[in-house]
Amino acid sequence: MTATVIDGKAFAAKVRAEVAAHVARLKEEHGITPGLAVVLVGEDPASEVYVRNKGVQTVEVGMASFEHKLPATTSEADLLALIGRLNADPKVHGILVQLPLPSHLNSELVINTIDPAKDADGFHISNVGLLGTGQKSMVPCTPLGCLMMLRDHHGSLSGMNAVVVGRSNIVGKPMAQLLLGDSCTVTIAHSRTKDLAAVCRGADILVAAVGRPEMITGDMVKPGATVIDVGINRIERDGKVKLVGDVHYASAAAVAGAITPVPGGVGPMTIACLLANTLTACCRANGLPEPKGLTA
Ligand code: NDP
Repeated sequence: MTATVIDGKAFAAKVRAEVAAHVARLKEEHGITPGLAVVLVGEDPASEVYVRNKGVQTVEVGMASFEHKLPATTSEADLLALIGRLNADPKVHGILVQLPLPSHLNSELVINTIDPAKDADGFHISNVGLLGTGQKSMVPCTPLGCLMMLRDHHGSLSGMNAVVVGRSNIVGKPMAQLLLGDSCTVTIAHSRTKDLAAVCRGADILVAAVGRPEMITGDMVKPGATVIDVGINRIERDGKVKLVGDVHYASAAAVAGAITPVPGGVGPMTIACLLANTLTACCRANGLPEPKGLTA
């Protein structure tokens, strides 16, 4: 079997077009422009690239982009004060603090200072609790993007066996909650899981969020399964730097029914979902109907 490739780049472009159309209607009919504020502390090169991409795509869909670049020496009090101002600013509907923060800053405190209704990343403890109890929340962008692709490919996910490899707070755990919310039977695997290959082979839906290059190989995939590769790993091969996922693509694609590539799979969906979340937050803040198909 050769797997169907789930094209995250094309799907993300479709999501951005839907967001842009909704933003245009909000402006025309209500005079409202959704706004996303991104806060970057320090000069981590990878974070700077992410923040630049987020800013460009925010403007492309017609939203207002507010970038706050602060020096690595910024005090916690100053950062919390900025978040307080963004919480109170009616032009700002979504707030994202780029992680990781410099080590002298308490990330949990910083994230939990964001107004949960403006928490575009869905990391605030209130949103974690709301998601865990099946209530309306802001949903972390990467798992939301995976869910959208799975729903698009399968329609209903009800009754499917899903295995999520990885239990981080930003990917693995919320991914498992979302799959449970769509009535999958969910297993979360991690570094202490016994016989990971056998656990993975039970999956109709296999999500890899591990951070280990190509560790999920074809022999761990059930024939016909859908494989979602969240991993982004830079490796050196044949003297060149290459981007690979947590899944060994060639061997997995020979067995799976569908698979996301790296790059061009989950990655592009993450920023698209950040924009979708900002739009959702803006609609909620203004008591307007939420965009259909862009939330969990
Ligand atoms: P973390 O390092 O926070 O979590 C990794 C998880 O993998 C942990 O739960 C760990 O288990 C588990 N793990 C590690 N080794 C093994 C193993 N040998 N067998 C089974 N499980 C294992 O990573 P993240 O969740 O933040 O990220 C995962 C990957 O996704 C990374 O490659 C990251 O770059 C990528 N990513 C991609 C995004 C995108 O936009 N596409 C966004 C965010 C992340 P334990 O808890 O037991 O230690």
